[in-house]
Amino acid sequence: MKFEASKWASFVLTASLTLSSLDVVDAKKSRVPKQRLSHDVAPQHYHVTLVPKRDCSFSGSVAIQLDVTNSTNQLVFNAKGLEIDEDSVTLKRLNKDAGEIDILQINNEVDNNEYNAEENYKNLTLDFTVRDFVTLGSEEPLSSPGRYLLYMEFNGTMNSRRTLGLYCSPSPGTGKHKDRTGRWMVASAFEPNLASTAFPCWDEPGFKANFTISLAHDNRTVTLSNMPLRISKPYDNSDGEGWRLDTFHTTPKMSPYLVGVMISENVAHLDSKLNGDRPLRIWGHPGRVQYGDLPLRLAKRHMEFLEDYMSFQDPLPKQDMLTVRNYIAGGLENWGIVSYDEKLILFDPRYRRNKQVVLRCSNLIAHELSHIWFGNLVTPNWWDDIWLSEGFSSYFAVLSTSKVYPVWGHETASWILARENSMEVDARDTTHPLRPQLSPGSGFREVFDQIIYNKGQSIVRMLNFTIGEQALKEGLRNYIRKRAYATASHDLLWSELEKAAGGFANLPENVSLAEVMDSWLNRPGYPVVSVIRDYSAGEITISQRSILDKEDAREDASAAWWIPLTYTYDGENGTTTSVRLWLNPAEINTTIDDPAPSDKWLLFNLHGAGYYRVRYDRDNAAYLLNDLSDLWLDDRVQVVSDMVELARLGFSPVSDALNALSSMKNEMSPYPWLAILGSAHKTLSLFRGTELEDMFTEFLNEILSVGMTRVEEDDVHRKELVSLSCEVGVTKCTKMADELFKKWAEDPNHKIPEDIRGSVYCYGVAHGDSKSWQMVNSRFASSADAKDKKDLLKALACTKDSNLLSKYLKWTLEPSKGGPGSKKTSTMFKALAKRDPEMLLSALVSQETDKKRNPRWKKLLEHVALEVNNEKQLNQLRQLLMADQDEFKSDFGGNAVISMAESNVDWLERNAGQTKAWLKKHEAMSAVKSKKLSKGSRGI
Ligand SMILES: [Zn+2]
Repeated sequence: MKFEASKWASFVLTASLTLSSLDVVDAKKSRVPKQRLSHDVAPQHYHVTLVPKRDCSFSGSVAIQLDVTNSTNQLVFNAKGLEIDEDSVTLKRLNKDAGEIDILQINNEVDNNEYNAEENYKNLTLDFTVRDFVTLGSEEPLSSPGRYLLYMEFNGTMNSRRTLGLYCSPSPGTGKHKDRTGRWMVASAFEPNLASTAFPCWDEPGFKANFTISLAHDNRTVTLSNMPLRISKPYDNSDGEGWRLDTFHTTPKMSPYLVGVMISENVAHLDSKLNGDRPLRIWGHPGRVQYGDLPLRLAKRHMEFLEDYMSFQDPLPKQDMLTVRNYIAGGLENWGIVSYDEKLILFDPRYRRNKQVVLRCSNLIAHELSHIWFGNLVTPNWWDDIWLSEGFSSYFAVLSTSKVYPVWGHETASWILARENSMEVDARDTTHPLRPQLSPGSGFREVFDQIIYNKGQSIVRMLNFTIGEQALKEGLRNYIRKRAYATASHDLLWSELEKAAGGFANLPENVSLAEVMDSWLNRPGYPVVSVIRDYSAGEITISQRSILDKEDAREDASAAWWIPLTYTYDGENGTTTSVRLWLNPAEINTTIDDPAPSDKWLLFNLHGAGYYRVRYDRDNAAYLLNDLSDLWLDDRVQVVSDMVELARLGFSPVSDALNALSSMKNEMSPYPWLAILGSAHKTLSLFRGTELEDMFTEFLNEILSVGMTRVEEDDVHRKELVSLSCEVGVTKCTKMADELFKKWAEDPNHKIPEDIRGSVYCYGVAHGDSKSWQMVNSRFASSADAKDKKDLLKALACTKDSNLLSKYLKWTLEPSKGGPGSKKTSTMFKALAKRDPEMLLSALVSQETDKKRNPRWKKLLEHVALEVNNEKQLNQLRQLLMADQDEFKSDFGGNAVISMAESNVDWLERNAGQTKAWLKKHEAMSAVKSKKLSKGSRGI
């Protein structure tokens, strides 16, 4: 699954797949179940028949062949929001010798004996008391080993608002939320555990089975499912004439969440072929599918690359690409019927000139197709190991794109985004390990976030550098071959990778890969490696500390990582990127001889391949900054981003960050910009409302003015560059925003490039009057594009008119009283937190609210905490979170949120003086320079 980026990460290039997971995954429907299903029973084969109606209701039946491995009196399975017809439920013991029965025979013929029923169970009871679970009890125990057939019929309602679960876009005239194309359509999105909203099943990834899907539909519609059509027969339906029942071939063993269906009218397709004559098709609205040739070509080439790399052909005989307008995710890997958000895949060929748009499309397709091996064939045992699917798919999305659609810099940009996005979240007190603890009953929110995708991808990249490309490939091939059609956990992966690496694993002596990787998997945060040179003794002292560790020195030797260290120095012959030294977690300090001359720089973590940041002593930092242009691009990126971000987090002197930012004036490549703009923006908000705000704004203005003269239309850093430049008043930016806003105000059809659209709207609102605000508000109401709507809604918070801002605040806090409604609360909350955290906090404190019991509340307050920068705000936040202390402490981690805000206040206290001194000195020097310059120009 891949979501659209939402934060600063939403550069056009979406290597970052995240969401804000909260906005997308419906918290109620995707809760981690309170209990796990018993493995006493193993479903082998489902025959699911669905009969969807135009009013978005549906009925269906399911026949499940299951093996009982431990004698039991009950079957517990999942059904969510389904009404099971109790009279229809039958349970039969099958003849042991029957083997696999033809499940197609079962339909409506449950009472005959063709499928070797030995025994019919009587006195069955159904219990629905545990939400989302059904317990089928039987007086007579089901014996083991034994094969059984469970049959039942059910009714349900499809989801007509969002593509979650079984989605139905209502027919024209029957509902207000119709697909704007006016066509009736049924689509599905079952990951993580929503298959049981469509049919009763064992809805956990570990319960793999074969699926035979039958779809009843009228003659105006077309059907698709995971497998090719097997047979289509007339179907009696009281709803009208001409109905058919389409039955598809049986799938290989797979998890229920991978089931995919489509029923649609007014749909067209383009055809291609994969190796071995397997059909590859793209489906969509007839007016859009004409743009499908590019994604089709990309998909074909990705499949070729991936099948070759994995040395394992996709077992499905066809691949369909389904495009759905405003799909819930960027893409979803339903096996053989991968579903995509239409606008990310089918775009006007004019946009193909923009490389970032094509790269995003390519990355998305490659990500979903990589799931064939990581997720579909080999499925993580449970959702806590989901990084095995998402981390690897993100990694291979980049790798495959770099082979299939090579664009210079794409790989660099992708790892920067993955690393920076992940480390930003991973430095917060609220972060979680790559393998999160999923407590029963909590939300699935930990799953599918920045950490899972981006840290996952970064860790795979680190592995690739550490054990080597060849070993990674060999190990993965064996892992896939051994566990295809089954499940796996990280343990098996480590053992296969270690075997493949053989003697060349580059591992520390007598330490297994599993041991090395344990800390990267189970520890939140990332290490900061200190490299302190003793120039007179010719030694380097290396130590590590967690980014989450507030103390200066590390006390607990166990709370650390095995870190693969690489290094080089100015003038070294034959630089190597292999591991030179493993930093042992048990050692507090490690001292080695300094290979570099005392007046030359030393550089660690080559290519930024390790998932850690490096801080140097002052002299070495200065040497590096002096010679930045001599470094490889990847190293320039990691040096400047580590300096700026570590200073923002209080781990290195703020002067390092300011020096690194100054050096950007000489930076011609987009990638170092890409790496530092997010940190620079956050540093600016730390100064909000203080005397340093203007000084730092002035400084950024000077640096960014240079950046703005060099940026090109499809540069990957343009979005964030424009956003920050317009905020600090860079003339080139404000002029452009002003012109674009005016044109768009006159003509709503005037297209503003998507990457800078949000900045343009914000600028227009901030510098416009109440009429501009009203205009943006009404265009928000009428816009059909979900992303555009979000940009417009955020922009409304940019107003400088206090009455309008109060109105916005009121809409946010009381969604029922006018305004965009509660579904938009999270977007508005975040926008307000950035715009004026104090106003928001004051309103929250004074408001009597029961929202505090809402689990989303903490997540929202986390956004405010990030912006807090003085005692008053901090106290307000404490007041909010402590009001209900016990509950917050136990359930919502309020302390972690407070701690984040405290860090900001503390940081400002410690660094304000130094920052001011540095900026003053810089200002004086700039004044001297410009004086000299103006004198000079008069002379000419
Ligand atoms: Zn995915």
